[in-house]
Amino acid sequence: MLLTACASCSGRISPTAEAATLGDLSFHSACVPSCDECGQSLGPALEQNWTYQVMVVPSVYGYECLPFHHLCPDCREATMTIEPGAQD
Ligand SMILES: [Zn+2]
Ligand SMILES: [Zn+2]
Repeated sequence: MLLTACASCSGRISPTAEAATLGDLSFHSACVPSCDECGQSLGPALEQNWTYQVMVVPSVYGYECLPFHHLCPDCREATMTIEPGAQD
């Protein structure tokens, strides 16, 4: 099991540190992403309801997954009418 690394800055997150999680991702409390639509920051109480997309990009380690397009619960609901699986 790898030590938890911040998905934003790639720094290690101490088990005792306050961290926010989003799916499989973890963030330092100072590194939490904000909503792409309204700009509010991911908060510990909200994290379960946030959604995001992941982009796989080549890196020096092979590949890494970069989360992007974070949506808070409010904005997610507002975009529910858009088909979530739609690709360009
Ligand atoms: Zn960080
Ligand atoms: Zn929002």
